[in-house]
Amino acid sequence: MYKCKEIIELTSQNMETSLPWYTRMEMKAHYLMCKTCNRYAQQLQFMNKALGVFEGHVPTENCQLSDDAKQRIAKKMCQVKETAE
Ligand SMILES: [Zn+2]
Repeated sequence: MYKCKEIIELTSQNMETSLPWYTRMEMKAHYLMCKTCNRYAQQLQFMNKALGVFEGHVPTENCQLSDDAKQRIAKKMCQVKETAE
């Protein structure tokens, strides 16, 4: 079984590369038991969609986040990371 810290690492990795199915299964099982990691994964997924950077999408001008907004999100994400440890 993975620890929260490992799940958080894996969650970020999973956004960039596809992890093996058994790892994803373990992650899913952990999300069911752990609210913090579940919330972190949801936020990360939302961010990925919102920013579209990992997919190589070029955001349209209207939905592009300012550097300030990105920093605020990054700060928030770090806080979530800390509470999960
Ligand atoms: Zn956890």
